[in-house]
Amino acid sequence: MGRRRHSLIPFPGPARNIFARDFSDSSNPPVSRGHQDDAMKTHYGQLTIDEVRDADKDRVVILSVSATEDHGSHMPLDTDTVLGMAVAEGAAKLAPEDILVMPPIPYGFNEHHKDFPGVIWIEPETLISFITDVTKSLAHHGFRRILLLNSHGSNHPVLDLAARKTVIQSEVLCVSCSYWNLISKEINEIRSSPLGGIAHAGEFEASIYMHLHPDLVDLSTAKSQIAHNPGSKFFNLDLAGGGGKAMLMRWWSSVSEDGTMGDPTVATAEKGKLFLDAAVNATVELVREIRALPLLPRVDRH
Ligand SMILES: [Zn+2]
Repeated sequence: MGRRRHSLIPFPGPARNIFARDFSDSSNPPVSRGHQDDAMKTHYGQLTIDEVRDADKDRVVILSVSATEDHGSHMPLDTDTVLGMAVAEGAAKLAPEDILVMPPIPYGFNEHHKDFPGVIWIEPETLISFITDVTKSLAHHGFRRILLLNSHGSNHPVLDLAARKTVIQSEVLCVSCSYWNLISKEINEIRSSPLGGIAHAGEFEASIYMHLHPDLVDLSTAKSQIAHNPGSKFFNLDLAGGGGKAMLMRWWSSVSEDGTMGDPTVATAEKGKLFLDAAVNATVELVREIRALPLLPRVDRH
């Protein structure tokens, strides 16, 4: 047990992470390491117990959290999982020395979708507990930089809470983000649809899925359903529209006929590659920022 106790100490002990310091030292910036990169495992699940024990604990562990739910008639239930993992794995490919990718959590907070066939929903309290059990486990094994990478809209506040709870419970760095929020500017440069066209199973998600698996997207069944009210000052569900200042999440069946919100009819695989590349690059940048963050000690200031 003694060896494991270090996970509770905010600063690294003298005998550990010799390798980590080499990689994260600012005088030695993370650059391609040639053949070593090719051999470096980036999937947490593929590590052996010895490799986990010896792993650089300052690598950022990415946990993708998604959903299994309706995405119109034109694309599959696993859309959020496939896209979230494409971002995580793409980032790990570019920066293998900085990233470990966890097996994903493919279910999310989406009970408001259950009027559509196939939806699997998780209570938000359950999801927070499940995620923080995973982060607690990672902290127990010594990892201290975690990124909760969200790919389903309504998970956003859940992951925010799970990340905050992890910081309090486990005293490690835990960051959450929804990947589209990292690239609003790029999305708006690439998109063809107007505001409201990129919300759920619309131009953005359909394009990326088409780029990854063209055989699983059938635009002949896709319908444009832009629910955005341009007259609204406060409501906005477009993923790249800057976010709504006020939030109302209705039953999804009240606002969409087939689950789509947005315009998938203008999706193309070419735009999908551009969206995905932007998300991957931004995630690598975020990971490097997380890796460079100082581990600050907690102080009793009574
Ligand atoms: Zn989705």
